[in-house]
Amino acid sequence: MKNNIARVALLNSEYEYLIPDELLHVVHEGSQVYIPFGKSKRRGHIVKISNKSEFPVDQLKSIIEVYGKQALITPQLLKLGDWMAQYYCCSKERAMRTLLPGSVRNGKVKHQRISHYFINDSKIAEEFLVKNKNNKNRHLQCEALKVLLTHNELVANALISESGCSTSTIKSLLKNDLIGEEKRVVQRDPFANREIIRTEKLALMTEQQTALQKINQLQDEILDKKKTVNPHTVLLFGVTGSGKTEVYLQAIDHCINLNKEAIVLVPEIALTPQTVSRFRARFGDEISVLHSGLSDGERFDEWSKVSNGTVKIAVGARSALFAPFKNLGLIIVDEEHEGTYKQSEAPRYHARDVAVMRGHLENAVVVLGSATPSFESYNNALNGKYVLAILKQRVDDRAMPEVKIIDLRMDAALNNPQPTKKDEEDVEFKSSFFSNMLIDAVREKIHLGEQVILFLNRRGFARQMMCEQCGYVAMCPNCSIAYTYHKAYDTLCCHMCMDTIQALDVCPDCQSKEVRYSGLGTEKVEEIARKLFKGARIARMDSDTMRGGHKSYEAVLNKFSRGEIDVLIGTQMIAKGLHVERVTLVGILNADHGLYIPDFRAGERTFQLITQVAGRAGRGDMEGEVLIQSHNPFNETIQYAKKHDYVSFYEYDMEVRNLLSYPPNGHLIAVYFEGEDNDLVANVAKDFANTLQKYLNDSITVSEVGVAPIERIKKKFRYMTMYRGTKLKAVRGAIRHLILHNNYPKKVHIYADVDAVSLL
Ligand code: ADP
Ligand code: ZN
Ligand code: ZN
Repeated sequence: MKNNIARVALLNSEYEYLIPDELLHVVHEGSQVYIPFGKSKRRGHIVKISNKSEFPVDQLKSIIEVYGKQALITPQLLKLGDWMAQYYCCSKERAMRTLLPGSVRNGKVKHQRISHYFINDSKIAEEFLVKNKNNKNRHLQCEALKVLLTHNELVANALISESGCSTSTIKSLLKNDLIGEEKRVVQRDPFANREIIRTEKLALMTEQQTALQKINQLQDEILDKKKTVNPHTVLLFGVTGSGKTEVYLQAIDHCINLNKEAIVLVPEIALTPQTVSRFRARFGDEISVLHSGLSDGERFDEWSKVSNGTVKIAVGARSALFAPFKNLGLIIVDEEHEGTYKQSEAPRYHARDVAVMRGHLENAVVVLGSATPSFESYNNALNGKYVLAILKQRVDDRAMPEVKIIDLRMDAALNNPQPTKKDEEDVEFKSSFFSNMLIDAVREKIHLGEQVILFLNRRGFARQMMCEQCGYVAMCPNCSIAYTYHKAYDTLCCHMCMDTIQALDVCPDCQSKEVRYSGLGTEKVEEIARKLFKGARIARMDSDTMRGGHKSYEAVLNKFSRGEIDVLIGTQMIAKGLHVERVTLVGILNADHGLYIPDFRAGERTFQLITQVAGRAGRGDMEGEVLIQSHNPFNETIQYAKKHDYVSFYEYDMEVRNLLSYPPNGHLIAVYFEGEDNDLVANVAKDFANTLQKYLNDSITVSEVGVAPIERIKKKFRYMTMYRGTKLKAVRGAIRHLILHNNYPKKVHIYADVDAVSLL
């Protein structure tokens, strides 16, 4: 029996094709092939080759031709893609596409080749020179030969500029066999012009040493047994400034010594230039940086370098996880709690979770690092699914920054009693953004020549109802999350249980009419800061000012590092990996923003943000201080963040999650329905949910179909339903099948978000 039946992933399905004899030795699982499909010719990936078909073989159509020389997807990655398609409820074609950068898949970019010229036979060349010494017509040829005789080889440009010859001279020399030509691939190196100072291993602190041992022990064990060990994942839980990166670097070093390859994932390359440069500084050319700013050609080159083994380490955001290494030993996921690891379009995969799966499939150790682990990862560590390694101390026993909470209600009442006409403007902006305490603290730091970070969480822009006077936030009584304000209906709606009430004009707690439905912005903060801190050098960093991409980010960052900026104002962007030693004050303008967004992870995210931003302070010899402004100073999340007490916060927040069976208790699948015809979408959603009824079990909690938190996007009405529980396998399979092979009207778009990190 010949293995001549290929399953090819196409659209939402897989189709069987016959492999013609002449192609038997060139196609493999993972190859891209052209196939007849209906009346057209399509390109698809072979996901399986076997000797059996569901259909009589003579009814199968044949593969037309192979696309590209090698199987582009390694067998292991093929398995990973298969798992992703099933787990994230998407088609295999979608999943396969994710495994390859577009430029590689489409093969549009070719290696740039450049000619090198050399003397074929120096004796003949010298004879030629003697013979033509006075031949004017051959003067240029002689000059070119003379130059080449003093070099091993030269590229055209160099030869032309050194000898003064032309391309036609080179052609004549080639024609007469006096010189030879070799075309060689050039690597476009996006970092070619950067200067790198190599660093050496640091002597580790005790805790770092212990953590490294745990990681390396797993690496050794895998090598001994030649199979996956269980567990194969380490959660490196280290406070900010504890030296996690040095542990990564030395774990990679060990991996390379074992002759294996390593992948490092960072949340966003553009936002972590400092981290990336530390990897380059240690490993130099052995590393490939997969940057979102790469051109197609550069990306193609980097992919090839990984694929052919020229480099041993790949660093990049999410998609670097699919670097086609064949002997993978280690995957590191830095800042594993970051939401950016979740892809927001299909396949809606979570790079951290897929990393753990890839590690499992390819016998690689996975290291997840964070100062504020995701609840999922910490829970797995507590359950023994992951090995836990803890770094409690900052490097050199530096102190954690001291955190103070400023009660915005008190401050407003005490310091700005009755505004006089004269300073009205002053008071207006002070009371809503800056407390006097924060103003004083910033002024003092500027005076001392130290640096300040002012942070504003803009994610808190969700439309919740909040009382300016007492800090009351309208919450759903059933779900412990904030109601979302729906302007169109003037209602407050809970997006967990879909409970809806009339919007409030008056605060039910203090009867104040100062209720607000929106937040504030960094732009306004900058404007005010310029008035308050006259003469200070102020810069703002958010997605509006950073339109220029990673270059403008790096420019501001470098200025800040050199001490040319006194006050840096920013959003989430400045929370990540920033290491500037003269930062001694971090001010969080409003910790409440984000605390009450309609999401059970609101507390977790706020805790993470406060901790991460606070962690930017006091990273040098000078002690750091953090001031948190809040209308809810006694909120538990803020209190635990103040004490740098992750573990207690985890225990506190888990109580609610246990009660309501939110992740990490089991998993969560959200299904969304979108379309322009409101009734149609609603009906499809209801029908979909009804069909799924029979796949439910006791472990599953279902949220009724309801309007999605963002009820309309681009004129499309949106509905959602949600399944939470420990035994989701059957329902997951059914959801996938319904989405891919449904008979619902095409006008309604249905998609699943498995392990959704934000429910909008
Ligand atoms: P984290 O990622 O945990 O916030 P970093 O890796 O950024 O911490 O480390 C903070 C600083 O401490 C960096 O400047 C790093 O070079 C330095 N560092 C790390 N480990 C050591 C060590 N063992 N000895 C001396 N300095 C170290
Ligand atoms: Zn109130
Ligand atoms: Zn509710």
